[in-house]
Amino acid sequence: MSLIVCKFGGTSVGSTEKIKNVAKRILKYRDQGHQVVVVLSAMSGQTDKLLGMAADIQEIPDLREMDMLLSTGEQVTISLFSMAVKAAGSDAVSLLGDQVCIQTDAMHTRARIKKIDTELIKQHLSAGKVVTIAGFQGVTQDGDITTLGRGGSDTTAVALAAALKADSCEIFTDVEGVYTTDPNICTKARKINMITYDEMLELASLGAKVLEIRSVGLAKRYRVPLHVRSTFTENEGTWVVEEDKIMESMLVSGITYNKNEARITINKVPDQPGIASKIFLPISDAGILVDMIIQNTREGHMTDMTFTVMRNDYARTMELLKKVAADIGAESVTGDESIVKISIVGVGMRNHSGIASTMFQIMSNEGINLMMISTSEIKVSCIIEEKYTELAVRALHSAFALDKDNVPKKEE
Ligand code: ADP
Ligand code: ASP
Ligand code: MG
Repeated sequence: MSLIVCKFGGTSVGSTEKIKNVAKRILKYRDQGHQVVVVLSAMSGQTDKLLGMAADIQEIPDLREMDMLLSTGEQVTISLFSMAVKAAGSDAVSLLGDQVCIQTDAMHTRARIKKIDTELIKQHLSAGKVVTIAGFQGVTQDGDITTLGRGGSDTTAVALAAALKADSCEIFTDVEGVYTTDPNICTKARKINMITYDEMLELASLGAKVLEIRSVGLAKRYRVPLHVRSTFTENEGTWVVEEDKIMESMLVSGITYNKNEARITINKVPDQPGIASKIFLPISDAGILVDMIIQNTREGHMTDMTFTVMRNDYARTMELLKKVAADIGAESVTGDESIVKISIVGVGMRNHSGIASTMFQIMSNEGINLMMISTSEIKVSCIIEEKYTELAVRALHSAFALDKDNVPKKEE
């Protein structure tokens, strides 16, 4: 008998009708002799609605209370789902993160899972029940409710699969798997049948929200086979696996975009040792993550420092930097929130030259200006104006032949 952890996202459980359909699907697994642990998200739109209500009441919300609030969305779906299983004649039990004891640190709204107690889950499974667990939430050692950050139900599912040593973790969503780019903005996007953990980590970190990045990291560390597939069809989806399981790697396996960043420049900074740390230390002390950084030298021992931060940290970072700029004698701080980071990703890019220059050529052909560039072994990212997002994604998708079945493979 195999044990499968199945996670359903917000759109998959967006109405009572959809919840009943998910219950039917899970009962089919049961009929095939599998034990099933189900992890559910809140109904689509619910977490945003709760965030909106909090914003109406407190400008900078109390994070402990925010977690108390946000965790309610998942309580609704797991209880309704268990009722649906019971209504269909089988036994089920729904459990919140603190009932299972999904223990996390105390970083409210972005907590990390420290350990999971599997005892209660195993008892219910042995009693023949479908065990349904609230995604996205945990509990601190002191008993406070926490949440894991947006999209965190994926992480709950993979962490449970690892702790229970499940045979696989199925992530059910509103698309048929992981695509060469977001199928909702490029109709020519194609489903990828198999992808490595490393490529998926890059895609997720660069904006492909189909899997939350921490869930991919956990799946890689604990070797959990991940299957991303559609809630609404029976089709095989995408398997996320180790590299040696894939015979041939694509040169470029996907294109991503991330509209969640903002660009900041400190103009005319005196070019002296220690300047970078004077700029970035206060930012990191404030818990703000910096992504790309460029330093340009000007004449007269002056330099410009440009970098990107998450868009929701933009206002806070600008505020901080105005003080820093005055301290270090910089001329001004300027910023831009209407940017997007476009990236190409593929393990086949290792040992293959010319990929970045092809990308730059395509963008130039489309008349798109590159504001910042960064590269790693398996990705190239460019910052461009946000209004060019769709144009850039579609042009790169065609240029790297991702539109076609017969895409170029890595030369061994
Ligand atoms: P869920 O609510 O099921 O967790 P999400 O909205 O978090 O679903 O993730 C699924 C969405 O991810 C898709 O609807 C799609 O728009 C988006 N997406 C972005 N990039 C990709 C990609 N490369 N492949 C598939 N989906 C993608
Ligand atoms: N409900 C949470 C969110 O919308 C968690 C999730 O859906 O994975 O981010
Ligand atoms: Mg999601």
